[in-house]
Amino acid sequence: MMFTAFLGIGSNLGDKPGHIRAGLQKIAEKAGRLKNVSAVYETEPWGVSGQDTYYNLVAEIETPLFPLQLLHALQQTEHECGRERKERWGSRTLDIDLLFFEDYHFSMDDLTVPHPRLAERNFVLYPMAEIAPGLVHPAYGLTLSRLKEISPDTGWIKPLNLPADADTACS
Ligand code: ADP
Ligand code: MG
Repeated sequence: MMFTAFLGIGSNLGDKPGHIRAGLQKIAEKAGRLKNVSAVYETEPWGVSGQDTYYNLVAEIETPLFPLQLLHALQQTEHECGRERKERWGSRTLDIDLLFFEDYHFSMDDLTVPHPRLAERNFVLYPMAEIAPGLVHPAYGLTLSRLKEISPDTGWIKPLNLPADADTACS
């Protein structure tokens, strides 16, 4: 049995396009086939000022994994691809969130689906509206294109002209 899931991928440290490409490649190996990948968007960092901008995208995958298995595969990918070598760089270079899994709507200790804060984040709503505008959020009953229109997020976001091919291996 195969499931459809949407993932949110972000990086704000170091070689951001490289981390994202490496993450996509690992996801394809560990989690399932990439069906659709959005453009890469550059977004204003949340909260603390002085942080570098974020690069974000979303990907639709077809996976044989159940939700918790998928989360673990994504966390393993974050660890393998996403950490700087030096300890002092505590900040993650790669963040992968499970945004949607089929039309599931549930919450448990380590996993809430859909991702609880996605409707307040332009860096999820813009790329989601690009690749799945008609997808209905199972908790709100609204499409991603509508959620983007009514987004409360006032931060800036712009699509970048970057290829997001899954052709870079983790070092
Ligand atoms: P954030 O992505 O919110 O900045 P983290 O990536 O550090 O924070 O994730 C913190 C925790 O969120 C993880 O330990 C994970 O168990 C939990 N979590 C709950 N729901 C989800 C989800 N849908 N996708 C990813 N992580 C989730
Ligand atoms: Mg995360």
